[in-house]
Formats: sequence, C-alpha cells, structure tokens
Amino acid sequence: MATPRPTTANDAFVLYDLKVEVVATDRPMICNHKAGDYFELKGENLSLPPGQTFAIYPLAALLPLLPAKQRVTHPNDWMTTDADIACPDPHCGALFRISRTAISTFRHAEVTAVPLPPARPRRRRPQVATDRTADR
Ligand SMILES: [Zn+2]
Repeated sequence: MATPRPTTANDAFVLYDLKVEVVATDRPMICNHKAGDYFELKGENLSLPPGQTFAIYPLAALLPLLPAKQRVTHPNDWMTTDADIACPDPHCGALFRISRTAISTFRHAEVTAVPLPPARPRRRRPQVATDRTADR
C-alpha cells in the first residue's frame, strides 16, 4: 500500500462540479439523445444516471471545454457566461447546457504526484500612509 502523502490546508483548491444537460431547440435531434439527458462531472469523474447513455461524438466535442468550465473564471470571461454548446452533428438541433452546480475542494497532494514548489517567504507590503499615520 502506498504511503499517503502529507496534505496541508494550503494545498487546497476548488473546482466547480458540472452538469451537462441536453436541451431541445426548434430543430429536430438526429443523434441518440433526448432533452433532459445529462451527465455530471466532479473533479475528474464523469457519471451518468443509471441506464442512460451519452453519445461519444458530442462527448468528444464537450470534453475540451469541461476543465475550463470547472475552474473559477473572470466574470467578464466568455467562459463564465457561455453555457450552451451545439451538437457537433450539423443536422442535429440539440444543445448541451453546461451548469456549474456546486464547488468541490480538492487537495493538490491527492490529485498529483508532482510536488508544489517550496513556499516563498511573503513579501512585506510597503507602508501606506493613512490619516492616522501620515503625520508621524
Ligand atoms: Zn446531436
């Protein structure tokens, strides 16, 4: 059994949990998906509801976007605001809506064998004069 690597509170990071759901449009769906079908992603783990399938072609189109949607993004970033992805079949009317459903905390040492760089000493902030200290 592998020896657990030490974890510390400061090696924590967060990722959004995602839900990717099939959304109908005014165009017919050609592929084998129907409105409401979905999968969820938490960390690196994708899960489907029991008995439901998800076609590999739209999954392949969605995969590059999912790690970016898992991460905290700037409010002005299109990755924050844009959530609907078209089916890669140009004849299919399905959209795939990516929703951030929760935030999960992970520890660096639990998800990679690469160590964090050594902590650098904190730099002191320059003193800024305030009303209380300006005349001193
Ligand atoms: Zn489709």
